[in-house]
Amino acid sequence: MEPAQDRPVFRFAPSPNGYLHLGHAFSAFENQARAEAVGGRLLLRIEDIDQTRATPELEAALIADLAWLGLRFETPYFRQSEHFGDYQAVLERLMAMGVVYPAFLTRGDVRRHVEDYERSGRLWPRDPDGAPLYPATDRERSGDERAALLASGRRHAFRLDMAAALALVEEPLFWREDTDGGMVDVEADPAAWGDVVLSRSDAPSSYHLSVVTDDAAQNVTHVVRGRDLYHATAIHRLLQTLLGLKAPVYRHHRLILGADGRKLSKSNGDTALRQLRADGSSVADILVLLGI
Ligand code: GLU
Repeated sequence: MEPAQDRPVFRFAPSPNGYLHLGHAFSAFENQARAEAVGGRLLLRIEDIDQTRATPELEAALIADLAWLGLRFETPYFRQSEHFGDYQAVLERLMAMGVVYPAFLTRGDVRRHVEDYERSGRLWPRDPDGAPLYPATDRERSGDERAALLASGRRHAFRLDMAAALALVEEPLFWREDTDGGMVDVEADPAAWGDVVLSRSDAPSSYHLSVVTDDAAQNVTHVVRGRDLYHATAIHRLLQTLLGLKAPVYRHHRLILGADGRKLSKSNGDTALRQLRADGSSVADILVLLGI
């Protein structure tokens, strides 16, 4: 076998905010199959930046569920909560580029802003997930106003100034997508997301910042994940480009849908792997449910 540093690197990156469900199992098996097919390494990254929801019990359950499925990952596992300092350092690099600003609006403020705007009969723009874009209020504050708010100790997040970030990128952005029909280049449209959050008031990072930082730190060459994250890849490509990081190849696989045709969420108790197992399902039954 080739030395470890020359082998492709895959990662399965669940968030222990609830019990793993069939969708996670599919993603984990997909990663394993793709890694095996090319003699790649298979890493497990525990995405526990949301310390209000991720608990040691849920993490232990996650590891037990993966072991029950017969999936094997390299150890030690990578835990995002042990890398907050790395995310802070990357955030500071972006700040030094002038593409980050403190964001003080609460969720309620954003909702009211959108409602006020929409009362005029015009629709406020939404991101590809359907969430309203962050208003320009904080981006347009004067330096003095910003300093005063920071000095007052007001809770804030940090957001990417999308227009400023795009101005630093010369070429149109693309990512490589491994589809069933072969490798294609997909044009990335990060602007569709507006000023995304990089670090939250209740967590010293964000999904986008951590995922890009960690994929690079772990030398991930192949990101295999659900189609729900397809459009978010545009943000990841932008951050990789700003930070001079190598881009992995992406593969966004089909989602396992619930009986109601909707995406599974952690609250879907009926498709939690533990529940299926408690109800008597074997791993072979799970594979049938997943259609693999
Ligand atoms: N932690 C993310 C999730 O559970 C997946 C992140 C990724 O694969 O990029 O949805």
